[in-house]
Amino acid sequence: MFLSKLFIPITKNLPSDAKIKSHQLMLRAGMIKQSSAGIYSWLPIGLKVMKKIEQIVREEQNKIGAQELLMPTIQSADIWKESGRYNDYGEEMLRIKDRQGREMLYGPTNEELITDIFRSSVKSYKSLPQMLYHIQWKFRDEIRPRFGVMRCREFFMKDAYSFDLDDNSAKISYNKMFFSYLKTFKRLGLEAIPMAADTGPIGGDLSHEFIILAETGESKIYTDKSIFEIDLNNYSYDNLSLEKMIKDYSSVYAVTDEKFKKAEFDKKVNKQNQLITKGIEVGHIFYFGDKYSKPLNCFVDSQDGKKNAVKMGSYGIGVSRLVGAIIEAKYEKEIMKWPKAVSPFDVVIIPSFNKNNKENLTKSIKIYEELKKQNIDVLLDDVEENMSQKFKKHDLIGIPFQIIVGSKSTESKIEFKEVNSESSFVDLKDIKSKLKS
Ligand code: ATP
Ligand code: MG
Repeated sequence: MFLSKLFIPITKNLPSDAKIKSHQLMLRAGMIKQSSAGIYSWLPIGLKVMKKIEQIVREEQNKIGAQELLMPTIQSADIWKESGRYNDYGEEMLRIKDRQGREMLYGPTNEELITDIFRSSVKSYKSLPQMLYHIQWKFRDEIRPRFGVMRCREFFMKDAYSFDLDDNSAKISYNKMFFSYLKTFKRLGLEAIPMAADTGPIGGDLSHEFIILAETGESKIYTDKSIFEIDLNNYSYDNLSLEKMIKDYSSVYAVTDEKFKKAEFDKKVNKQNQLITKGIEVGHIFYFGDKYSKPLNCFVDSQDGKKNAVKMGSYGIGVSRLVGAIIEAKYEKEIMKWPKAVSPFDVVIIPSFNKNNKENLTKSIKIYEELKKQNIDVLLDDVEENMSQKFKKHDLIGIPFQIIVGSKSTESKIEFKEVNSESSFVDLKDIKSKLKS
């Protein structure tokens, strides 16, 4: 892609409510545009990053045998009346009437709808366990939408649901998701801490939030620093290994403010190891047993012929929130550097040229074509501007690798730079391996 052709409305004027870095940067870099309070359009660069995150989330869900489906955004109120949540959910739910006067709603979550899908077809223990997920827009009429994509009214979420015959097997599903979440966040270049959480209005008895440390986060967290020493490479999807992992995490103190008790913290964690800070919740998993299956009549025949309410869990990842969360985690001194896995482009070529001398631009186009042939997603900055302006702009866009075509680059050796480190001179044919390393 040539930068002159890219729809990237870079802007300097920020609204006064853009208080945190990710919100400012996403607006400045033309990734999003607000359409009304807490509702955004995703512009090409923003959408590209979000789609990459979505794909990583999807791949890690598929790896544990979860199957993707797609439920609608608009739901009937009937199933919510059956579960009893139609009234309980309160004002966060956007309620709509269709032309026949039927009560509908824009889904804030999907426990009812997935249970309805499940109960209508699954009748026997033989079909269990099962995990289903979708990645779909949600609407919650948040009282205070803010911080850009962090707390929106309309947002993009992956939500998965597990179905098991009994508590023991449900626990295995929960553990798989737990590990899958840690792997997902790691691929996104993030270190997420799983924290014991309250189950809140969704109910049930087992729940973890996955939190990324950030000063701008809305969750207050209390943890033992030794949680950062747990190495994911020590575990596998084997059941025993998963149990060990959960045990290892549970033995380290890590909670959000709802569960925090000072006396307990001081007793369990020595002073030097205590970390009190803020974080962003990027994922949340719950085990709630038969909380929905019972009222919604989702029963299966067990081996001994009895009817059992299916045991369910639900598992969410804030896909659109993650775009902002990654920025909060990676932004440093006015410079953005996307993790390779989600960067809007693999590399940008920045030639130094002007009206009277376009030699470097011509050279850059040749490099561009060569890299394209190698399937590298490359951006060529063909906009006529001085180099310092160009570098500022690319500090904002955040592509992690740059090829600089100026006086220092020759035909055979080109100047190559990873953002925030020294440049080196490399052969064109070696660029691909450099981008991977
Ligand atoms: P929060 O405490 O932040 O309101 P929640 O407990 O209501 O989150 P869940 O219902 O578990 O969230 O949703 C799963 C994930 O969806 C959250 O972990 C978060 O990453 C994301 N999410 C929830 N609400 C919003 C929102 N208003 N805007 C953007 N992302 C959200
Ligand atoms: Mg919420």
